Amino acid sequence: MTHTIAYRAAILDSLGDPAELGLENSYRYFEDGMMVVENGRISALGHAPEIMKGLKSGTKIHHYEDALITPGFIDTHIHYPQTGMIASYGDQLLDWLENYTFPAEQKFADPAHAEQVSEIFLNELMRNGTTTALVFGTVHPQSVDAFFSSAEKRNLRMIAGKVLMDRNAPATLTDTPESGYRDSKALIERWHGKGRLHYAVTPRFAPTSSPEQLATAGQLLREYDGLYMHTHLSENRNEIEWVKALFPEQNGYLDVYDHHNLLGQRSVFAHGVHLCDEECHRLAETDSAIAFCPTSNLFLGSGLFNLPQAEQHKIKVGLGTDVGAGTSFSMLQTINEAYKVMQLQGKKLHPFKSFYLATLGGARALQLEQQVGTLEPGSEADFVVLDYNATPLMSYRMQQAKSLEERLFVLMTLGDDRAVKATFAMGETVYNRD
Ligand SMILES: [Zn+2]
Repeated sequence: MTHTIAYRAAILDSLGDPAELGLENSYRYFEDGMMVVENGRISALGHAPEIMKGLKSGTKIHHYEDALITPGFIDTHIHYPQTGMIASYGDQLLDWLENYTFPAEQKFADPAHAEQVSEIFLNELMRNGTTTALVFGTVHPQSVDAFFSSAEKRNLRMIAGKVLMDRNAPATLTDTPESGYRDSKALIERWHGKGRLHYAVTPRFAPTSSPEQLATAGQLLREYDGLYMHTHLSENRNEIEWVKALFPEQNGYLDVYDHHNLLGQRSVFAHGVHLCDEECHRLAETDSAIAFCPTSNLFLGSGLFNLPQAEQHKIKVGLGTDVGAGTSFSMLQTINEAYKVMQLQGKKLHPFKSFYLATLGGARALQLEQQVGTLEPGSEADFVVLDYNATPLMSYRMQQAKSLEERLFVLMTLGDDRAVKATFAMGETVYNRD
């Protein structure tokens, strides 16, 4: 039996990167729109009066007044084990790992703890309208089992992996090239391609993996189709110097990964705050992606991501919250901070570009644009209902707003989890605020 529901509201999705298409051609908007969802997939999208003519009689219609339906947000870099240490005071990257991250991650040896945090983490993503994320586990395989089990129950499209880390970390948090390879392989066999789940080979970053371990990461990518590679790159200046000292034979940070065949169309590098043109060229040439993590880059004092440089080189870019170094699960708040990162560099970030980055741009960075990231008929029905009147201030400010782009900008600047009315995955409600 087919299961059909129609949703009526203002509806917006992205058609492409404004840097390529121009602002006007980069989006699709229906002021009085209707989207039809059939068996978990979008089957029709358009102006409500037209779509309604084609609806089978008796089709249930959900009408959201003064709300905006968009694709679910896509977070291209986040650490679920760091949920409990978000907002930790005082350090930049390397001390922050030592003082906060490693102690927090040690607790994930306990499967019950991993299960509990997975649930809290996914509740937060749903509350914030994020339906797909590329997620770090810890070194413990049980951390990834717990995460995937929780994601599977909710039928979410999620990507995650076990951290590979065989040096420069506490003994309780390290694996070896052999055990890291073996444990990753077992997780891939168990989860990769199961339902809507994908596996990411996940070396933490170059300083915590030996060349032998990075070689096993490259080997895994060759052995299985469709695997992701997820790591950090050029976040902090001291980190970059450390990588140079650890890998003197390589020509810079990115080259360490390149040397081990870790670049490619499913490779996502978090941060990339301090990249030279040669590195940008190489990322583009290999179709690798960058996760731009503004709240994290500001919070850890790492630096300002140069989005125009990435655009010039045509590098795929998505947005990441990077919780727990990031300070919010909200992609709206992440956009708000991305705007300020551009301002500090004398650049503007248009709301249509931000919207692209948080939806279709993220989907492209993850090679998932056929499945999610837009509301194109045929796509999986992962979407969010946003409330223009989430707070008294938003409501008052919206009364002064004259255009879609102005309303969108206010939503992105003042909005957060409170602006998410409902979140849907494969057409099912996974969060309902009211
Ligand atoms: Zn990170």
